[in-house]
Amino acid sequence: MTRLTSEQILGRLIGFETTSTTSNLELIDFMRNYLDDFSVVSQLVHSDDQTCANLYATIGPDDIGGVMLSGHTDVVPTAGQNWNSDPYQMKSDDRAFFGRGACDMKGFIASALAGVPQMVAQSLMTPIHLAFSYDEEIGCVGVKKLINAMRDFEVKPRIGLIGEPTDMKMVPGHKGKAAFRVDVTGSSCHSAYISSGVNAVEYAAELISFIRNMNHEVQQRQQLDDGYSVPHSTFHVGNISGGTALNIVPKQCQFEFEVRNLPQDRLDDLVHEIQRYSMDKLLPDMQARFEQSDIQFTLISHYPGLLTELDSTVIEYTRSINPVNEIGDKVSFGTEAGLFDQQLGINSVVCGPGSIDQAHKPDEFVTREQMQYCDRLITNLIDRCKTVFPN
Ligand SMILES: [Zn+2]
Repeated sequence: MTRLTSEQILGRLIGFETTSTTSNLELIDFMRNYLDDFSVVSQLVHSDDQTCANLYATIGPDDIGGVMLSGHTDVVPTAGQNWNSDPYQMKSDDRAFFGRGACDMKGFIASALAGVPQMVAQSLMTPIHLAFSYDEEIGCVGVKKLINAMRDFEVKPRIGLIGEPTDMKMVPGHKGKAAFRVDVTGSSCHSAYISSGVNAVEYAAELISFIRNMNHEVQQRQQLDDGYSVPHSTFHVGNISGGTALNIVPKQCQFEFEVRNLPQDRLDDLVHEIQRYSMDKLLPDMQARFEQSDIQFTLISHYPGLLTELDSTVIEYTRSINPVNEIGDKVSFGTEAGLFDQQLGINSVVCGPGSIDQAHKPDEFVTREQMQYCDRLITNLIDRCKTVFPN
């Protein structure tokens, strides 16, 4: 049995180049063998093409809920970034550890794994579950498979700590998101005779200004949430392409848009509003002139928001074990917490070492101090799990 510190494990984890959509199986193998060394049985839930896997393990009794420690194993690419050292080889100085994934979020996973020998040595009355996913960074893709598998578990975790970088503050909420591609199809003709064609670019533009205007609409009618730096649901178009030449009425136009909703605003309702405008206002007009005109919406990705009450069990529990006893602002980036909460009823909070300011950037780092806080949280958690949840 090799006991490793969180620093040593972090070094190993950073060494696996687990960019989203590339295989994470070598990393999963490492974790599996490590857990196996301490006789912890883990189960894998693979992607359809078998190149990635989620890992789930329970330490302690398997007949009651307990506490889940959750993190994603994938990282964002380093292409186009100017790093001072190899991003996949951990460097450290007296203040911090550097490498891709240091704070987002291999630091948290390393800390959780470093606690395993201690978890096993104690006779826990409350179980600790480890849930490590793949392909989070491209829209919480991998964890959805894990969640599907977890639906059949007889006992599910009661509460979840999702260790995204929050400087160890307890973040009780984040926005949800849906991303769509829209394909507008009209009919082309010589631009001197515009009335015989249907201009896809112009109809797309009408739809885009409707989407843009939704930003103002929701501020008028929906309740703002001042816990967020942008206190309302937001709408945004990120790219567009269409048309071939100026003297041809364009037949095709494609664009992508996203809605980031406050959890208290229903994402479906907001999206339906945009789709209704297309179907009821734009499409009849287009089809009156060319019957095969079309507007197609394709969902690219989506995940729900998180809205955890400050007096909920997970906040009180985490407060009791967290050396950083601070509630953080709600965050506009997404996490897997909303999915665990909404789909499995696992009362969840986002809380992990490092800062989102360093995530996705060159020379990503997590400070030694943040890792120490996280290690202490894990040690305190193990202590608390010697009693029955939620004493
Ligand atoms: Zn992350």
